[in-house]
Amino acid sequence: MRVYNFSPGPSALPLPVLEKAASEMTNANGTGQSVMEMSHRSKDYKPIFEKTESLLRELMGIPSNYKVLFLQGGASLQFAMVPLNLAAGDMPGKGKKASYIDTGIWSDKAIKEGAKYASVEVKASSKDKAYTYIPEAPAPSADDAYYHITLNNTIVGTRWDKIPDTGKVPLVSDISSCILSEPLDVSKFGIVYAGAQKNLGPAGVTVVIIREDLIGKAPDWTPIMLRYDTHASEGSMYNTPPCYSIYMIGLVLEWIKNLGGVNAIAKLNMEKADLFYNYLESSKMFYSPVEKQFRSLMNIPFVTTEKDEAKKTELESRFVKEAAAAGLINLAGHRLVGGMRASIYNAMPIDGVKALIDFMKKFEG
Ligand SMILES: *Cc1c(COP(=O)(O)O)cnc(C)c1O
Repeated sequence: MRVYNFSPGPSALPLPVLEKAASEMTNANGTGQSVMEMSHRSKDYKPIFEKTESLLRELMGIPSNYKVLFLQGGASLQFAMVPLNLAAGDMPGKGKKASYIDTGIWSDKAIKEGAKYASVEVKASSKDKAYTYIPEAPAPSADDAYYHITLNNTIVGTRWDKIPDTGKVPLVSDISSCILSEPLDVSKFGIVYAGAQKNLGPAGVTVVIIREDLIGKAPDWTPIMLRYDTHASEGSMYNTPPCYSIYMIGLVLEWIKNLGGVNAIAKLNMEKADLFYNYLESSKMFYSPVEKQFRSLMNIPFVTTEKDEAKKTELESRFVKEAAAAGLINLAGHRLVGGMRASIYNAMPIDGVKALIDFMKKFEG
């Protein structure tokens, strides 16, 4: 029996995708090989790669003046690649200015990494209230090389409800945990990037969508593998790309297309999130610590009303354990924030959310 997996990442994949991959495991498209065994430059692999890119372009409505790159190193490497390519100076050390908004642990990591190569200014932060809201986004400085936000905050469960207007300054966003969860106007951004293992496919590949005029600005001392122009000019094949993970993204995109595309998936996601938030509102034991306006559709942290610390810890660990025994796994909150969290990415069926709510109602007694 398959469990309902509420992991924040790597996370559940759609069952039809896994079944398709299984059916092609040893012989893909009649080639007599697994996709894992194909040369990345072969005629067998080429259509797989091209299909993944074209489906992503179609589903996200990516304008033609943007390149799509399939890289490695996770979203975490983009924390360094963005400042290196857009703001670094002629010598290692602090380069051009860049603005960041601090909305949680991932933004904070991006800020710390960015500060190694750019003159970073944190324009606003929601740290004062444990990151439970999204702050107003102040205007960029006129000479900013870019302006960075984290669109969906996986750990604390917040999401930007509107995209800030940064004028001529390129807006850069980490969209790891919300890519393809609802429509996104890519043309409002200079760069968006996402590790695949939340909403796109298995770990090992990072999608970077970059406006062409932002490519080719890295200083000479930038390692060749960390330059956007290296990967853009070689079609993500300067070296061996994560071929199998790219193939899996292709299957996930096909699945989304068959469901009716991003609008259809967004409708389902809103239904799932509404169901769960509404239950939390009605619960006497559990609640969401996040301000209503900024609640994530993908990651829903929740805590108990228990005031006594020791009892609270006991209650929460019992909850996570008993849920797992009931086939509802990975509900513990992030190790840095505690509590519980249900990640309900695209692949989580509404029945999984309903099963969780039923379990929580019984647990409450
Ligand atoms: C998971 C996550 C990351 C880290 O991704 P890696 O691919 O493991 O480097 C960064 N940002 C956000 C918003 C995430 O959810």
